[in-house]
Amino acid sequence: MQGRIVKGIAGFYYVDTEDGIFECRAKGIFRNQKVKPLVGDLVELEVLSQEEKEGSVISILPRKSELIRPAVANVDQALVIFALSRPTPNLPLLDRFLIMMKQKEIPTIICFNKSDMVSEEEREHFRQIYRDCGSKLLFISAKKGEGTDAVRDCLRGHMTTVAGPSGVGKSTLINHLVPEAEMETGKISEKADRGKHTTRHSELFRLEKGSYILDTPGFTALEPEAMEKEELRFCFPEFDPYEGSCKFQGCIHDREPGCAVKEAVEDGKISKERYESYISFFRELKERERRR
Ligand code: GDP
Ligand code: ZN
Repeated sequence: MQGRIVKGIAGFYYVDTEDGIFECRAKGIFRNQKVKPLVGDLVELEVLSQEEKEGSVISILPRKSELIRPAVANVDQALVIFALSRPTPNLPLLDRFLIMMKQKEIPTIICFNKSDMVSEEEREHFRQIYRDCGSKLLFISAKKGEGTDAVRDCLRGHMTTVAGPSGVGKSTLINHLVPEAEMETGKISEKADRGKHTTRHSELFRLEKGSYILDTPGFTALEPEAMEKEELRFCFPEFDPYEGSCKFQGCIHDREPGCAVKEAVEDGKISKERYESYISFFRELKERERRR
């Protein structure tokens, strides 16, 4: 039988199958291998008890992707949530996240929540900044349930990691999306670690068949992987149409004369905020390089 590991606690793996969730240990074959099962893995399991819903993980199917923090396999997109107000969006943090995901080649959906708290002009302001950033943009009100169908459509058939700073309405949205029964399942398997002092684990919630979301804890300490400052510009998709049109080959779009990107910024074709964000990250990487 096959299933998806939705949770891992102290050597136990909870595997979501057609027959419900099985509590499994990994078979001895994994002991001497470098590859250990991860949340998100599709696995082959052997049923030990149908009534008790117990089994063994006997093999891991090939992975499509692997994230380290959080440790999760097969994530194929990210949904990042920010509030339009209370708290006001921390755009440098959002841009940092976009850079990280671009480095990992994981497509991102930006979800601006609490749309009900701001005017259409304010929504338009953020829409303009991110219009060509390469991510899908959604404006929703999780509290009022507005726009949440569009979120659901984006998640269908995917393994999505859901991230965002606290207070932006992440729990409100997840509660809205995850069926009651799935939340209950989460609580039941919680019994397994009663009394044990375990840190917060990554857990997958099933939205519908083939669609899972991972609630990603710890968003504050985002650290893009080491990269050469000269590569940063490729993490800003709005620059793509102008790459190669600058006067100098390998132009990093900072102070060079005849820069097509800067010209596009001045003409309003590239959002000024995103360009300034690029320059600020560029300086940060330069500073880091200097200290090396
Ligand atoms: P989390 O920390 O990201 O999980 O945020 P919560 O889901 O706990 O929400 C934080 C606060 O924002 C709560 O008081 C929610 O009721 C409120 N909230 C969440 N979504 C919305 C929304 O769409 N509009 C408004 N006005 N408030 C919201
Ligand atoms: Zn340039």
